[in-house]
Amino acid sequence: MIPVTIFAGSEVAVVGAGLSGLATARALDVGGANVVVWDDKLKARDEAEAAGFAVRDLPAADFSKFDALVLAPGIPLTHPEPHWSVRKAKGAGIEVIGDVELFLRERAKSGAGSKVIAITGTNGKSTTTALAAHLLDTAGKQVALGGNIGKAVLDLQSFTPDMTYVLELSSYQIDLTPSLAPDAAALLNVTPDHLDRHGTLQNYAAVKARIFAQVPPDGTAVIGVDDESCRAIADDLRGSFAVKRIAVGHAVEDGVWAKDGVLLEMEGGQEVGRADLAGIGSLRGAHNWQNAAAAYALARAMGLDGAAIQQGLKSFVGLAHRMEQVARVGNVLFVNDSKATNADAAGKALGSFDDIYWIVGGRAKDGGLAGLEAFYPKITRAYLIGEAAEDFAHQLGDAVPHVVCGTLDRAVTDAARDAGGSDASEPVVLLSPASASFDQFDNFAKRGDAFRELVLGLDGATSVTQRGKAA
Ligand code: ADP
Repeated sequence: MIPVTIFAGSEVAVVGAGLSGLATARALDVGGANVVVWDDKLKARDEAEAAGFAVRDLPAADFSKFDALVLAPGIPLTHPEPHWSVRKAKGAGIEVIGDVELFLRERAKSGAGSKVIAITGTNGKSTTTALAAHLLDTAGKQVALGGNIGKAVLDLQSFTPDMTYVLELSSYQIDLTPSLAPDAAALLNVTPDHLDRHGTLQNYAAVKARIFAQVPPDGTAVIGVDDESCRAIADDLRGSFAVKRIAVGHAVEDGVWAKDGVLLEMEGGQEVGRADLAGIGSLRGAHNWQNAAAAYALARAMGLDGAAIQQGLKSFVGLAHRMEQVARVGNVLFVNDSKATNADAAGKALGSFDDIYWIVGGRAKDGGLAGLEAFYPKITRAYLIGEAAEDFAHQLGDAVPHVVCGTLDRAVTDAARDAGGSDASEPVVLLSPASASFDQFDNFAKRGDAFRELVLGLDGATSVTQRGKAA
């Protein structure tokens, strides 16, 4: 844990008693602040109280007695409208910040020598963050990984001069972090998502772009240039820091681009290094090439050479539930992509394999399977589960052979049997549901765990990889 001492003797309100909120309250308390906690949900308040936190009736409190409001990132700062606690804080003239801000202020005080890498983007944040941390770790660096992935930042190891903190940041966290000045920062992509929380695409992109606003002169900005918003941000980047562009399928002057699964590092238009992603199962697909190229650029910014990066890439096992290779039965590969809760995400997985036995369904999102038609020729058969099964059967129509299975266990059994009879070199049973899990599971992780268990229970199943880091 990182004790937060900068508010020692002060009164601080923490709103949102989830993982990061409670870590914040603990860190402030140990650092000498007087902390009170609130959550709009009674259950969360009860649990916080039972765990020994000072839960107070903040809706009724006078906020002028507080020195700061620390807001959990899940609570609206601006859109669709400011949370009542934000209004009260603004009314009382106190600052509204997040746990990453506390982490950085504390680092400014007592974290000399440590480095911070910050990673954001609409998609691929967790994969890139985990991969960048893995590359540094396998090269022998001291690494702490957290933020929007795994541990809350204030639960990470204390500052030491040789520690590199690799942080995944959501746009909500960036919004709450005015002192964000990472030694290296990456923005992968910006596509319309979470607009409910940011209003417009312009506003959302502007928040994401703030990750670069205070990069120091000897720092590095890594930016994907495959979407329009990011290209505009890249063109606007001013500063004496290095700018490394990331692209898939087209060259960049300075940065790293992916050409058919090979990463090419460029300086002044010349190739100065490369790494091959062939055979690395956890980094299949063009979307993962983008993630790997960004992690490569970040690792270079931290002083790793190409050989160390290639070495690290090879041993990356990937993240649980994101195109996670679970097992093989004969030549059939079983892949858990339970995190794909919408059609867009499922498309990434469908694009990465051929001869697919696709387990799909759950609680459908708006639009259902729309947009996936281009992948249909790669799907040998679909196995439909959950509430969406009948509707998806209708959407697939004659384009894809399919069977309504209802439950995951039946789908795994049927898909395994059919894939086992395939003549292809690597048939793939792919759970990529394009739907939420809540009709049959608590969350996507539980759904992925259930798939994993069913697959490992099949006759002749051999586990492919160690479990990836959960996020
Ligand atoms: P995030 O942390 O931003 O949600 P993850 O690394 O957890 O991203 O990946 C979640 C899903 O998003 C993956 O299963 C994949 O479908 C998709 N994805 C991953 N990387 C990218 C990328 N660079 N571009 C577009 N989609 C991606």
